[in-house]
Formats: sequence, structure tokens, C-alpha cells
Amino acid sequence: MKKITIAIDGHSSCGKSTMAKDLAREIGYIYIDSGAMYRACTLFCMRQGLVRPDGTIDTARLEPLMPQLHVAFGLDAATGRPQTLLNGENVEADIRTMEVSSHVSPVAAIPFVRAAMTAQQQLMGAKGGIVMDGRDIGTAVFPHAEMKVFVTASDEIRARRRYDELCVKGEQPDFDDVLRNLRERDRIDSTRAVAPLRQAPDALVLDNSNLTIAQQKQWLLDRFHELTR
Ligand code: C5P
Repeated sequence: MKKITIAIDGHSSCGKSTMAKDLAREIGYIYIDSGAMYRACTLFCMRQGLVRPDGTIDTARLEPLMPQLHVAFGLDAATGRPQTLLNGENVEADIRTMEVSSHVSPVAAIPFVRAAMTAQQQLMGAKGGIVMDGRDIGTAVFPHAEMKVFVTASDEIRARRRYDELCVKGEQPDFDDVLRNLRERDRIDSTRAVAPLRQAPDALVLDNSNLTIAQQKQWLLDRFHELTR
């Protein structure tokens, strides 16, 4: 059977990655977390001292450095979990911090950063058989994806999920900071000039505010089987 392309977009911290990963594993597709790529770019900017004190990015210095910025994915040999590689280094834990979260949307709004990441994502998905989650996958990266899902949930529920995730990782976040951060990211992501966060007109909408992970997984699987039957 021909393998299709599946685009899962939506607001920050609505559980897209968990459900996209689960779906990919279940149907034997490759999973790509496009947000991790923008997070890795952000870590690169932070390490190069390109984030100004007011949070803006020194794009004039970043642009010539782009050829030195390579993001890839690998598998952690010990856990079997996917890991994000920045110039060959495993940065999976470093890109999930609140600090990276607070700088990532301005980095992701830079047109030349998006052009570089989009080209790489299109290459990764060129043969189909991929589940990619992000903000612009169904609108800009794979506008012809056979299955598009737009996920959302209430702000408070999303903030609670992200807060719990950070606590499990040993951070001690402030709930209001987490809520503010996700609202701010949604605002920047939805209003940027290039590939803003939008629901594609042909996307299936999933509000998962009151769904368990198992229910979301089943919903996705049902939609997948309907489309590929
Ligand atoms: O999905 P995640 O929350 O890890 O994404 C981090 C950030 O990367 C988002 O807030 C957004 O600014 C950016 N992003 C994007 N386009 C994508 C995926 C993520 O602009 N396709």
C-alpha cells in the first residue's frame, strides 16, 4: 500500500508530539518533530551569543553562520528514543528547557531560518510514510499531505501539561510563566509573516482538552484507516 504523508499542526503544548509519535509507531511510519529543529536552531543562537538582552535575534550575524548549523535526528542507543542532534551533538534535553522555549518563536519567525528548515523537512518527507508535527506542516511544508490534523486544547490545560512535563524533567517552573510563554508563542507563531500557524482548510480538527492519550491515539488511527482504506 502506498504510504501517505501525515501533517499534525496546532498550538503549543497540545500534545501533538505524543500523538504523532504514537501514530507513527503504530503504523510503521517515520516521525519527525519539526519543533525540535527550531529549538535546536535556537540553542545554536543562544550558544553563539546571538540572542540580545531584549530577546531579539542578531540576524545579520546568524545568516552567514547558517551553513554551520546542522540539525538531524538519531536514536538513543540505550533507550531507543529519538534524539535531536545539533552538529552531531545530542541536544535533546537542552532544547526542552524554558529558556529555549522563551526564545524559540522569534528564531522560528526569521525567514531564512524557516527556508532552511522547510527545505530539510521536505527532503525528509519526500518519499511519504512520514508523520510530521509542527505549526506549518499542512500549510507550507506539505500542503498536499493526504492527512492533515489541526490539534488544539484550552490554554490552561496546555499549560498544565507543559508544567507537569517540566517538573518530571527536574525543572521548577512557575505555572504562570509557563502559561504566559505558551500564549506568547502562539501569538508570535500566528502573526509572523512567513508560514504562520493556521488551520489548513482541509485539516481535520481535534480538540483534545478532555481526551485521554489513548482516546487521541484511537481517534487518529480511525482517521488514518478511513483515509487509507
Ligand atoms: O512544537 P514545539 O513547541 O516544540 O515548537 C517550538 C517552537 O518552534 C514553536 O513555538 C514555534 O515557534 C516553532 N515551530 C514553527 N514551525 C514548526 C514547528 C515549530 O515555527 N513547524
